[in-house]
Formats: sequence, C-alpha cells, structure tokens
Amino acid sequence: MDTGIEVNNLSYDYGPKKALDDISFSAFSGKFTALLGPNGAGKSTLYHLLTRIMKLQSGQIRIFGNDLKKSPLSAMASMGIVFQQQTLDLDLTVRQNLKYFAALHGLPAQDLENRITERLKSLDIEDRGDEKVRTLNGGHRRRAEIARALLHNPRILLLDEPTVGLDVPSRKAIVDYVHMLCRKEKLTVLWATHLVDEVMQEDDLIILHQGKICAQGNVSKLSEEHK
Ligand code: ADP
Ligand code: ADP
Repeated sequence: MDTGIEVNNLSYDYGPKKALDDISFSAFSGKFTALLGPNGAGKSTLYHLLTRIMKLQSGQIRIFGNDLKKSPLSAMASMGIVFQQQTLDLDLTVRQNLKYFAALHGLPAQDLENRITERLKSLDIEDRGDEKVRTLNGGHRRRAEIARALLHNPRILLLDEPTVGLDVPSRKAIVDYVHMLCRKEKLTVLWATHLVDEVMQEDDLIILHQGKICAQGNVSKLSEEHK
C-alpha cells in the first residue's frame, strides 16, 4: 500500500495554546482515513498545513514520500481539496465552474468536456451539469465540488467536514460516493468530521482531541479493543 500522506511530529500554535500538539500518522492509497474530532480539535489547522495555506512551524509532512516543503508543487498537483466553505460560483453552471477551474489550473483542454461528463456521471449529477449552482441543493453542490476536486486526477482527496449542513440522505450519499471512489481509484482519502456515524468498519480512524491524537488505527480493530 502506498503512503499518500505521512505526518511526523507536527505541532502548530496560534498563541500560547497548541492547536496541534506533536501529531504523527499515515494515510494510505485506497484507504478512507477519517479524522474525527469535535470543534476546536485542530482539524482545520491540519488541513491548512497540508494545503500550504499556512506555514509549518514544526514537524514534517510527506506526500508520497516527498517532503512537502521541498517539493510543494508536485505535492499540490497530487491533491484534490474540498474545503469546508463552499467555493463554487453560484451564478455559473456546474460545467462552467469546472471549466473555469480547469483553465485556472492549466489542465489540458483536449477531451475536457468528456472528462467533466465522466466525473459528473460518477457522482450521479450529470443531469445537473448545465444548471446554475444557485439552483442546486446542498448535497448536489457538494458533489459538484467533489467532481471539481477530482478533475485533475489527484491521488489524494482532502475533505474538511464536507457534509456540514446537509440532511441525512444527502450526507449518506456523499459518504458512500467517496468510499466508492476511494476504493475504485485507489485514492488516499482524508475526511475530517465530527460525526462518528460517517466512519465505516473498513476505514482507518484518527481521533483528534485538543490538538492531540488520542486513538488511531483500523476501525474494526479499535472497536474490538474497546469491547
Ligand atoms: P477544528 O477544525 O477541529 O474545529 P481548528 O483547527 O479550527 O479545529 O482549531 C484548533 C484550535 O486552534 C482551536 O482552539 C481554535 O480556537 C484555535 N484556532 C484556530 N484558528 C485560529 C486562529 N486563526 N487564531 C487563533 N486560534 C485559532
Ligand atoms: P472550524 O470548524 O474550521 O474550526 P471555526 O468556526 O472554528 O471552524 O473557525 C472558522 C475560522 O476561524 C477558521 O479559519 C479558523 O482558523 C478561525 N478561528 C477559529 N478559532 C479562532 C480563534 N480562537 N481566533 C481566531 N480565529 C479563529
């Protein structure tokens, strides 16, 4: 199994209190790794470090074995990101949003329409492609964001609380889709959530509390140990 993300002794503080306190973990290809923690646990801080929105203070992040600091561009190219706040342009259609993203990132124009269609199909929103994002419900908007995050065929998919504000059926659909994509495309998925019911038996789990990892490992093993 390839190691998509390796975090070693990562700490971060915004002031006297540590938002992340010496955390280490690995996330693997074809594995759905759930990062579970209540508000304030440090999930967003970790995502902001992984996506280089914030600078590392101490510790190391490796992406497929390469130090994120030393090879930031190849690392970034291998990541698809779904942020917590929605970032689609509401007045463009889903397809226009995806095309804009592709242009912005210099993705090859050849076959772009087909690739967009394939992505929308795999997320079961192909019929929404020509509708303005504003007219879509929250679940469909989320799926469009996932389609966009996957457009450059990243090997890692980072999602920061992607189901916040969705109703139960939409949440379940998205959890299921991402599990399916993870297996099918051997993606390294890191899924931050504060909802334990989004985690499945075969997943890897990291429990974060006040900046520290208090448990990690395969879900079925962890639940055995706690019986
Ligand atoms: P989560 O995403 O799990 O809710 P965060 O990473 O947002 O956790 O926050 C971790 C801790 O860092 C919290 O105590 C939070 O208040 C603090 N924190 C986050 N961002 C900032 C900031 N910009 N300035 C100061 N403290 C922050
Ligand atoms: P999240 O679930 O991402 O932690 P929050 O509502 O805690 O959401 O934070 C929203 C934004 O506010 C984030 O960008 C975070 O960095 C910032 N933030 C969180 N806590 C603090 C804080 N104590 N001081 C300043 N900024 C903060």
